[in-house]
Amino acid sequence: MSDDQHTDGNGVAGLLAQVLAVETTTMTRSCQSCGDTNPMGAHRAYHGAAAVLRCPSCADVAVRITETDDRVVVEWRGTFVISR
Ligand SMILES: [Zn+2]
Repeated sequence: MSDDQHTDGNGVAGLLAQVLAVETTTMTRSCQSCGDTNPMGAHRAYHGAAAVLRCPSCADVAVRITETDDRVVVEWRGTFVISR
């Protein structure tokens, strides 16, 4: 899949809502690579064998979500803040 084919981060909100009891669109993330802080919805979502969210500033991997029949594996990178 081309790197140009992505949706915004809201495209995986439903997937993340399955594993987190929070509204993920209210989360912000500070990038481990470039240090920028962006809302989850501003991240770029790429859909392939896994769903991958990339930093809108530097394009490094932020979240990787892999689904199998009986589980969802989520790899987090960076610092995530959930507003209450
Ligand atoms: Zn970054």
